[in-house]
Amino acid sequence: MMIKKIVFATNNQHKLKEIRKLMGDSIEILSLKDIGCVEELPETGRTLEENALQKAQYVYEKYGWNCFSDDSGLEVDALGGRPGVRSARFAGPHARSKDNIVKLLTELREVENRNAKFRTVIALIRNTNVYYFEGEIQGMIIKEEKGDGGFGYDSVFQPAGFEFTFAEMSDLEKNEISHRGIAVKALVKWLQENS
Ligand code: IMP
Repeated sequence: MMIKKIVFATNNQHKLKEIRKLMGDSIEILSLKDIGCVEELPETGRTLEENALQKAQYVYEKYGWNCFSDDSGLEVDALGGRPGVRSARFAGPHARSKDNIVKLLTELREVENRNAKFRTVIALIRNTNVYYFEGEIQGMIIKEEKGDGGFGYDSVFQPAGFEFTFAEMSDLEKNEISHRGIAVKALVKWLQENS
């Protein structure tokens, strides 16, 4: 059987490992480094959909590879969906996770509605066609950080139905329920059924 190859527009080893494990042997996932793409990808969209598509399109057009790309963000109800697409840079262009969390907790200091969700959008370009896959998880922003695993906003996000935060879960537990886990599983299923 011919092994199909597809590019995941990332160099994040964590994300690559996770999806390769889910994909099995029938489809080979290449990273940006694997195809010699070392430049920063454009990411100037106003939505997760636009950003995901922009990155996949760049690789497809410049390198000629079928490609998918993901973009995720935290959408807080009381903030009208912010930080959303700007989650990584909420507190400024070079913000660290800690700075973003401080800004978030400050903006929500007097706020009762703590509802929020994480959302991931994956854009896939295959032979000129575009497909989207999505995953989301509802939860709430707690008042103080809890747990020291994970990354980003994990220590202040408590998924609905749980008594603990993403930062208190193992990678395995988090992947089972997370926005990214859901979106990635939908993509993997589609690729396995349509190749
Ligand atoms: P990316 O699109 O996966 O790079 O995610 C963009 C930003 O959203 C990250 O830099 C984090 O600030 C935030 N984020 C996305 N997913 C998660 C998550 O699972 N936990 C915590 N923060 C996340």
